[in-house]
Amino acid sequence: MTTPRGVISLKPADCTSCMLCVRECPTWCISLDSHQAPDPETPAGARVRLINVLDDFRIDFSRCMSCGICVEVCPFDALAWESETDYDEPTRDALTHHTDRMSSHRGTSSKP
Ligand code: SF4
Ligand code: SF4
Repeated sequence: MTTPRGVISLKPADCTSCMLCVRECPTWCISLDSHQAPDPETPAGARVRLINVLDDFRIDFSRCMSCGICVEVCPFDALAWESETDYDEPTRDALTHHTDRMSSHRGTSSKP
């Protein structure tokens, strides 16, 4: 498969599971699972805040049209373009990249 703009990488630690990219993607090819947990940085004595913890993030690249909206709307720069434009997958299902695969793309272009 050849993509016109490269592949999208994810930095999981910067993703707050805010769902903005999921909602803005015009082809609905982004999905994620998350759960809520107490914020470990809640100051002692303060009311415990809950934060979203990312369990899995997915992009189905068989439906992605490389518009870049997800990269643009992410408020935390958790998504980035990487330069890899050719990658082969043995099955259609394998074109859905999960957190681990998307993380492995990170830094393969000049963007940190
Ligand atoms: S580049 Fe566009 S189509 Fe592809 S995942 Fe991002 S928002 Fe969706
Ligand atoms: S917009 Fe960014 S922070 Fe929000 S869910 Fe998507 S990747 Fe994560």
